[in-house]
Amino acid sequence: MSPRCMLMLFLLFAIPFVGLILSESGAIARADPPAKPEDFVRVQKGTLPIIVSAPHGGRKVVPGVPERLGIGVKLFATVRDTNTDVLAERFVADLEKQLGGKVWVVIARFDRKYLDVNRPRDGAYESENAKPYYDAYHNPLIAACKAVKETHGAGLLLDIHGQGEFMDSICRGTQNGKTVKLLKERYGWTAVTGRNSVLGQLERVGYKVLPKCSAAEEVKEESRFTGGHMVGTYGSHTAYAIDAIQLEFGSNYRERDIYPKTAHDLADAVAAFHDEYLKK
Ligand SMILES: [Zn+2]
Repeated sequence: MSPRCMLMLFLLFAIPFVGLILSESGAIARADPPAKPEDFVRVQKGTLPIIVSAPHGGRKVVPGVPERLGIGVKLFATVRDTNTDVLAERFVADLEKQLGGKVWVVIARFDRKYLDVNRPRDGAYESENAKPYYDAYHNPLIAACKAVKETHGAGLLLDIHGQGEFMDSICRGTQNGKTVKLLKERYGWTAVTGRNSVLGQLERVGYKVLPKCSAAEEVKEESRFTGGHMVGTYGSHTAYAIDAIQLEFGSNYRERDIYPKTAHDLADAVAAFHDEYLKK
């Protein structure tokens, strides 16, 4: 074989390898940086005395965290509250347009299969790798409650959820009045279910609310939806002292072509509540 032929053969075999090495190193150089827990929660600092939380609508897989098994965990659930993330987003956008300020926002992007932030820490996750994601949700909520308290003296936290048991209803969760202690002390039960309350207004425009807004305070909330860890932790019966209501939207109100209207009506209701009870 002539030297020229040998060179041709060498190039024929070598060039594809050179190309492969280059493209691989190129791929490494282009790879995204590792995901941070903060990338799995939508957080916004606000100016209004209103905080919105939506912990169960996320869809993202959490890297390095196995799906939970729930062995021995009370009230174990992994099911997604479908469209509550987008409902919360749309509601916030509509409300901000009406009130001309910013709402405090914490919305989960991670799937509930990996951690459930509406549970006390010891029942929320099973892998230590999930801890930073739990904190990435609760730390901004804590900061929001403190800032609202300091700036406005009082505020409203709405924890947005979905349920499929009462498909055409919204269930109120205040731990039977406990988490809205300050609101009741200042304005009475009417601020929770009356004409200018959030739920009272929704009922007036045609939503079915459970318990009915006409029911007396003593009528117990639906046993599965009385309000979970979020309202129990930050409600106005606690040191955070923010009036907190869990809203469990029935599946009919969360369908893809319906939720924007639900969000809009909720924004109307909260704007009116703000003007009546939160405006200084
Ligand atoms: Zn939920």
